Amino acid sequence: MSNRFDQKPGMDYARCKDCGVTVSTRREADEHMNATLEQSETRHSHTMFIQNPTRPERIRSRVSDLVGDTINDALEELCSLVRGGQISHEEATTAISEWPDFRTAWDEGDF
Ligand SMILES: [Zn+2]
Repeated sequence: MSNRFDQKPGMDYARCKDCGVTVSTRREADEHMNATLEQSETRHSHTMFIQNPTRPERIRSRVSDLVGDTINDALEELCSLVRGGQISHEEATTAISEWPDFRTAWDEGDF
């Protein structure tokens, strides 16, 4: 049984935005980028558009979205605790330092 995380059978993995060549695997895409980088006088490889990601790539992308959304939800709630005067900004920063990804997002946010 297949689902939305499965790679679509019979569809090319990626297409080159610069020369239109299509490839069926990640390895071929990497090879094309490496080959065009070596041929380039400006030290730029061609850019591949991944139109049919592999199952691990699809799952990774979904997990990335989920974790990002979760961190944003948590930051909003934490921010409202600080704005409401229940905890200080310093207390929040100290407490979330145990979660590096969360701390990075907190530091990069405008709270
Ligand atoms: Zn190309």
